[in-house]
Amino acid sequence: MNHWLTHFEKSGMTESPDYNSTIKYFEKFEKNFPSVKIIDFGTTPQGRKLKTVIVSKDKAFTPALARKSNKAIILIQNGIHSGEIEGKDACMLLLREILVTKEKSHLLDNLILLIIPVLNIDGHERLSQFNRPNQNGPKQMGWRTNALNLNLNRDYLKADTPEIQSFLKLFNDWLPDFMIDNHTTNGADYQYHVTYGIETHQNIDRGLVNWINSKYLPYLTNKVESDGFIIGPYMEFKDGTIESGILDLPSPPRLSHGYCAVQNRVCLLVETHSLKPFNNRVFSTKSMMTHTLEFVNENSRELIELNKQADKNPVKNYLINKKKFPLVLVSNGKFDKFIFKGFEWYDEYSEITGSTVRKYTNKPIEIEIPIFNQAKSLKKIFVPKAYLIPQEFQSIIKILDYHQIKYSQLQSSKKIKVERYRFSNVAFAPRPYEGRQLPSFSTICFEEEVTLPKGTYFVPTNQRALRVIVNLLEPDAPDSFVHWGFFNAFFERKEYAEAYVMEPFAKMMIENNQTLSNEFYKRLESDEKFRNDPLGRLDFFYRKSPFFDQGENVYPIMRLKDEKI
Ligand SMILES: [Zn+2]
Repeated sequence: MNHWLTHFEKSGMTESPDYNSTIKYFEKFEKNFPSVKIIDFGTTPQGRKLKTVIVSKDKAFTPALARKSNKAIILIQNGIHSGEIEGKDACMLLLREILVTKEKSHLLDNLILLIIPVLNIDGHERLSQFNRPNQNGPKQMGWRTNALNLNLNRDYLKADTPEIQSFLKLFNDWLPDFMIDNHTTNGADYQYHVTYGIETHQNIDRGLVNWINSKYLPYLTNKVESDGFIIGPYMEFKDGTIESGILDLPSPPRLSHGYCAVQNRVCLLVETHSLKPFNNRVFSTKSMMTHTLEFVNENSRELIELNKQADKNPVKNYLINKKKFPLVLVSNGKFDKFIFKGFEWYDEYSEITGSTVRKYTNKPIEIEIPIFNQAKSLKKIFVPKAYLIPQEFQSIIKILDYHQIKYSQLQSSKKIKVERYRFSNVAFAPRPYEGRQLPSFSTICFEEEVTLPKGTYFVPTNQRALRVIVNLLEPDAPDSFVHWGFFNAFFERKEYAEAYVMEPFAKMMIENNQTLSNEFYKRLESDEKFRNDPLGRLDFFYRKSPFFDQGENVYPIMRLKDEKI
């Protein structure tokens, strides 16, 4: 048994091993047990191999064999924020109990496990004791972002990074029945050892929500508590303070659990509390995983059936029954009461900051605070039959491929009526976010008859990943291509008229068009700013002239509403 001790145990529960030692430990399972196989699924920007450990009693080491086995596939992801690493050490201990000591060997009766020991490997190897100022161990820890300084847990939909591109292939090939994503949280001090995020709003299938709320969560919280851990929902405070209340709202699909939701799957986000000692965090993560595996193992048939149904429901709801799709989900302001288990705090004046700083004592308290747990949709849309993407947008098609969205190409040109969006009120964030310049805008939908050239991409929405398609291609969705800045070039004006050309042309326009003339002089009279803006006055005519680019501020991707194609 001694040679199965993990680095974490040998270090007196204060250290986590580097990537090579981590993989060596998992390879020992592979060498000793035919039920384990390790596969490469990609390469990091610094050239390290992404690996997943597959554990299956029937050696169902491919997605096709796994599906045939009728067992539930559970994907466990560690170290996407690789400073938050206890999930990796907890997986070693859990796998040892399944394979070596066999205390939990029954978990393989109805489950196939896919364990990613570390997703952000380059970040994991950027070791320091100073990477997480708010965290209590391990002695050395990895860095939050990947080597390109991008946060992988914002990348699930836009797929900028090699790590997430590889992950998406793995995810969509295997299409797990349940995912666990292990993290450590920052934030206030409180009693909770471990908190969880799980999607239960309008962004995920109702059948899965009922299963989560009536069966899975009550079971999980009960079991984890009986292991001696205080468990609660993920603590995102409304205005950054405990008193302002907790936000329990839909997570956008840029995040792992938000992405699973739009893929019709449940993801448990595990967030241990950063101020608890490393060993406590390893064991609370292990407790969360163990009881989740126990529950899914006991109820695997039911979950597989619910997932099958969840894959059919988006098409049924939004295409056949023509329900409106909730695109922009925010709090509706309503809240429930929540008994928060915190530590007594006080605010103390600080000479350093020149203001007050919050200090926590070690005296446990329970206070009632609001939990904002209801969402409404600011914008709802009818889902079109298909989206039409001009063939020049190869970069967009590549991302659809990562998500394994199906499409075809028009074999001949076609004249057709489509719906399009025009943007207005365009503005840009002053600082980059995840290396991108994010626009804000309003949209107006209009109809137009267009001739689609041969080769235009036709993306039908009657697919199981309908939610993913809509979230990527509808500009108003929070993680759409447009919101992530993929279409910024279409906000730019690319051609100009010189004043000495436009001025005589404007004169001619006035002479030939009485309505235009009236409109111009009326505006001169009523709009002082316009009156005093020589270039603005010329622009008034330019926009109405045949020189104006009709494509400026128009979204090049189109919606096919009714017509057949
Ligand atoms: Zn994290």
